[in-house]
Amino acid sequence: IRIVVTMATCGIAAGAQKVYETLRKEITRYGLNNVIVAPTGCNGLCHYEPIVDIYVPGKEKVTYVQVTAEKIKKIIALHLFAGKPVLDYAYEKDMTYQMPIALSNSGIINPESIEEYIALGGYRAEIKALDMKPEEVIAEIKASGLRGRGGGGFLTGLKWEYTARAEADQKYVLCNADEGDPGAFMDRSILEGDPHKIIEAMSIAGYAIEATCGFIYVRAEYPLAVKRLELAIEQARKLGLLGKNILGKNFSFDLEIRLGAGAFVCGEETALMASIEGKRGEPRPRPPFPALKGLFNKPTLLNNVETFANVPMILNNGAEWYSSIGTAKSKGTKVFALGGKINNTGLIEIPMGTRLGDVIYKIGGGIPKGKKFKAAQTGGPSGGCIPADYIDSPIEYETLIELGSMMGSGGLIVMDEETCMVDVARFFLEFTVEESCGKCPPCRIGTKRMLELLAKITNNEGQVGDLEKLEQLAKTITAASLCGLGQTAPNPVLSTIRYFRSEYEAHIIERK
Ligand code: SF4
Repeated sequence: IRIVVTMATCGIAAGAQKVYETLRKEITRYGLNNVIVAPTGCNGLCHYEPIVDIYVPGKEKVTYVQVTAEKIKKIIALHLFAGKPVLDYAYEKDMTYQMPIALSNSGIINPESIEEYIALGGYRAEIKALDMKPEEVIAEIKASGLRGRGGGGFLTGLKWEYTARAEADQKYVLCNADEGDPGAFMDRSILEGDPHKIIEAMSIAGYAIEATCGFIYVRAEYPLAVKRLELAIEQARKLGLLGKNILGKNFSFDLEIRLGAGAFVCGEETALMASIEGKRGEPRPRPPFPALKGLFNKPTLLNNVETFANVPMILNNGAEWYSSIGTAKSKGTKVFALGGKINNTGLIEIPMGTRLGDVIYKIGGGIPKGKKFKAAQTGGPSGGCIPADYIDSPIEYETLIELGSMMGSGGLIVMDEETCMVDVARFFLEFTVEESCGKCPPCRIGTKRMLELLAKITNNEGQVGDLEKLEQLAKTITAASLCGLGQTAPNPVLSTIRYFRSEYEAHIIERK
């Protein structure tokens, strides 16, 4: 019998530690020697934490939700002794609309055990890759159609190819785990639930581009992810899966962790590299692109956590399998952190092309208190709002851009009929003003001026012509800012003006 308690940050915040300790005590008290108790990562049902899964051989898994120390005592007594699951506390997760690839192990394995990762096929992809030529590995990633999940959506295989082609005595593989969008927690959950998958993927990337060294740049605010990564790196080294002559082959690769101090701009690739180099985390102009001159001026491959999390499954199951999922130009799946005015907040992974409405109603369980769905915000402070009229739109890179939003890293915030869209735009702009590194004036000064205008409007002090001024400023900031943070900062304002202009006007007219 195996019992797992979801102990990612979301579970622990909801009281999983106490449940876990009580569970262990009860198991010992009853002398249940045949029961294995282990922590696991987030299984996506964040709104139902703490969660306990019980696996009894030959029986269906039973998932208990919102478990307390008291409830777990009853569950042990009835389920384990009397063989009667406590159905009042049980919940059956409907996965009809989901497809876990990046999250395939999260919520199932113990992230602190390399043996459990290996038992479910872990490191098989790396073994396979090391028997291939580096260019064959890259060809497989290219053929899969995988695109960067950090926001831009650039073809991952192409990025690998460009870095592989660069000639240098030293190259680097970087993992961007500097997740900073408000409402986003996909990367944290992957690292907390399945750290070996990222280590395996980075090693494969190292082999493909002929790099011997990698860094995982992770926020210091993610202490559990950091702890599990450190442990996983140590375990992989001990088993010869990291370090010199991996698996006895002529390939050496090792990893180090670098902690970010929480500046949002350090998620931008050149700022991230500057930060690892010990410099101030500020973007620099491109070209030269990191594939030629990146970290310490050496060719560097940078992917985000979710992008890497797809790599082992692609190599194990083949590019053809992966590219058969999703739409013509957006292959595979996408992880979203579902939040805001929605019943089932949590982590989801859907095939690209899934209807927005299915995410809101079929997976998310609709809007609390039966209120109307008004809009969904994707792409965090760089993205925009998609109004209810577009509820049938497929979630894929191109469609989101056409709608004035973007995929971003995967925050999906739902708004109901009572949400003021001008307030939403103001919230995101406040965030970018706060996080602008200040290096270039269009972003440093322009976003501040936009925020002042928005503040005027939301305080009902707006004047006729303010909307046009906002749009003009937005155009200049987009065109003249140095990095993606500034270039996309006006998006939440522009998309809300595009779809909810009357709400802006109502604030202004009220004053007249
Ligand atoms: Fe810094 Fe903003 Fe300029 Fe980017 S656009 S370099 S964040 S000031």
